[in-house]
Amino acid sequence: MRILVTGGAGFIGSEYVRMLLTDAAGGGPAAVTVLDKLTYSGNLANLATVRDDARLRFVQGDICDPDVVDEVLPGHDVIVHFAAESHVDRSILGAAPFVTTNVLGTQTLLDAALRHGTGRFVHVSTDEVYGSIDSGSWTETWPLAPNSPYSASKAGSDLLALAYHRTHGMDVVVTRCSNNYGPYQFPEKVIPLFVTNLLDGGTVPLYGDGGNIRDWLHVRDHCVGIALVQEKGRAGEVYNIGGGTELTNKELTAMLLEACGAGWDRVVPVADRKGHDRRYSLDIGKITAELGYRPSIDLETGLASTVRWYRDNRSWWQPLKAKTAA
Ligand code: NAD
Repeated sequence: MRILVTGGAGFIGSEYVRMLLTDAAGGGPAAVTVLDKLTYSGNLANLATVRDDARLRFVQGDICDPDVVDEVLPGHDVIVHFAAESHVDRSILGAAPFVTTNVLGTQTLLDAALRHGTGRFVHVSTDEVYGSIDSGSWTETWPLAPNSPYSASKAGSDLLALAYHRTHGMDVVVTRCSNNYGPYQFPEKVIPLFVTNLLDGGTVPLYGDGGNIRDWLHVRDHCVGIALVQEKGRAGEVYNIGGGTELTNKELTAMLLEACGAGWDRVVPVADRKGHDRRYSLDIGKITAELGYRPSIDLETGLASTVRWYRDNRSWWQPLKAKTAA
């Protein structure tokens, strides 16, 4: 099996590549190609532990460039598509790169996969495409109602991927996952931002009343779910991946303060994010029943190991924070 991973130098994509090359059952794939533009959030250091694996090839390139995609894609059996602009706050400041990469980039990849007859296209989407839900949980048949430019661009790409299945009979599967945390996450996202600020003796910004609810899943559990979908998911189907722990941002902040030995005096309330979704909640009955998915890392254990990782890997995150502060 030869696998093309787009965005494989980012947070989740690099976890997937590390998992494929070090932990996959049955010896893993014959070859893994990473296609990544290395935007501000892409980082070759994320692949350092597998850099010397002869099965890994890294190509720096843009998924929006059909010539690059045409050159890299032939010979692969599967595409696992992570590459995206991924930060909601950035999409509020400027939506253009989100539409370009997430929508046009995905369409460029889909067209190339169609032309080259690639076996399977795994599109990594997000629960944010469903919008916000006050009570209950989304199943995969829930209508999409995204609220941010980020989630709207992801919904566009998610629907395009499904359209290529319906129109062209392409073997497409879509995953929609809840919020991830873990090592190698760019320190602009809430958990690494808060942890690194606290480790540096600084303060942390808490949006609005802190009552927004997210379902937190360890990045490894997300990748295990994607691997199941890649191997056994039914073509044309969507699979929710979640089953972590639902917490308000205030509850999450309390856990992070405790893990870093800090008090509430380090929390600075800030104006709420524009259009801030109140609650996300996924029903994962389908992937559990069909593919035997079950998350294995509970939040307390996962957060403790994540905080330890940021404590032990200052050399990874300090240059990134310096770059974004500049
Ligand atoms: P990330 O920002 O850490 O990584 C994105 C990667 O894509 C980076 O390596 C970047 O260099 C690359 N990239 C961006 N534009 C590109 C382009 N035009 N061409 C090639 N490469 C490009 O993001 P992440 O958190 O790892 O998210 C990965 C995927 O998972 C995204 O599609 C995101 O929507 C989805 N997702 C994320 C979460 C989460 O909690 N982080 C949850 C559900 C789904």
